[in-house]
Amino acid sequence: MSLEYLFRNLIINFLFIRRSSCYYYCSHYYHKETLAIAYAGSIYPVGPMQEWDVPDDVQSRVVLPPKGRKPSGRPPKKRKPSQGEEIVHRKYGRCGGLGHNRLKCS
Ligand SMILES: [Zn+2]
Repeated sequence: MSLEYLFRNLIINFLFIRRSSCYYYCSHYYHKETLAIAYAGSIYPVGPMQEWDVPDDVQSRVVLPPKGRKPSGRPPKKRKPSQGEEIVHRKYGRCGGLGHNRLKCS
């Protein structure tokens, strides 16, 4: 019995035979009303920028781009360990050597 067959029978059973709502079997988190309640008090549309009431201390601040530049390319493979952190050297099983794997083994 396939999963598709089970779902098809479930849908036919509840929608057409029992006439019950499929929403009964769905978590309330997925209901439209729950979504509306979740965002009811969170969204405050703002008017045009000229009408904004910006405090003087905020308006006087100068925001500059971050100093420095991100180095190009992929970051280095070996990172600096945190304070108290020990580096675990992996051992390649075939030769017993530390810090390499099959690709770099001689
Ligand atoms: Zn090796």
